[in-house]
Amino acid sequence: MIDIDFSVFTFLYVSSGMAVIFGLWLYYDRRDVRLYERIRVRHTFHCIQCGSLYSDRGRREVSRCPQCGFQNAKLKF
Ligand SMILES: [Zn+2]
Repeated sequence: MIDIDFSVFTFLYVSSGMAVIFGLWLYYDRRDVRLYERIRVRHTFHCIQCGSLYSDRGRREVSRCPQCGFQNAKLKF
């Protein structure tokens, strides 16, 4: 059997628990970023045909106007 000091065992036990918690934290954080990024990101569009101002979700460069259906590019500031 392997003889290790109690302080070494305690250090390994605590550090392995912290590594598991840190790994779970990283996994769930990355998962939430992927899942909710589409919902969080909103872009503003200005219709050049009817003049309405509207917003749309997602990472798209072009969106259809809800008033007239014209395709508009997103506003850049
Ligand atoms: Zn329009």
